[in-house]
Amino acid sequence: MILDIHTHHLDPSNKDCIQNIEIGLFNPQEGCFYSLGLHPWKVNERWENDFDLLQVHSQHPSVLAIGEAGLDRFVTDNISLQKNAFERQILLCEEINKPLIIHCVKCFNELIALKRQYHPHVPWIVHGFRNNPFIAERLLNEDFYLSIGERYQATAIEMIPNDRLLAETDESTKNIFSIIQGIALVKKISHDELIDHLNKNVQKVFFKA
Ligand SMILES: [Zn+2]
Repeated sequence: MILDIHTHHLDPSNKDCIQNIEIGLFNPQEGCFYSLGLHPWKVNERWENDFDLLQVHSQHPSVLAIGEAGLDRFVTDNISLQKNAFERQILLCEEINKPLIIHCVKCFNELIALKRQYHPHVPWIVHGFRNNPFIAERLLNEDFYLSIGERYQATAIEMIPNDRLLAETDESTKNIFSIIQGIALVKKISHDELIDHLNKNVQKVFFKA
């Protein structure tokens, strides 16, 4: 059962997570699941070469999502390239019918504008969501899923409906069960009930169940 939808801890024996792997390192292991994408920090003038490789590898059945992809205002020297690469990945998701895992830092207006522009059919997930309830509400109104990791604002989590919530370890040293325990406490539901919701959401988003 996948509960951790985004981790950078690559482990060929871990079949219960979606491992985020660099495109050049993609070498799928039996039973493992992956996400692949052009990270906004890494987008440079040669991004189209990486994109060609992404287009090929993203067809592999072990690749459950494109990402992390997105926009990051703190990396200022490539912001227009970031936008080009992100829009190309938005279209790729529609072509291959796989969800998009999004890295967004201080670009939520642009992100919402893109969602309205493209009307995607696949789910869009903002990963590592640690912003305030106001931004959470805006994203929820636009049908985003929000994935929560080690750091978050409890007041934002309180307002995320159970059917729009996902969990992740990202780069944390905590395991997914301790992150889930923290979220369950904020939401005042049991660990098991939260796992049940998360499992249903993973099935719906990544396996179209
Ligand atoms: Zn990440």
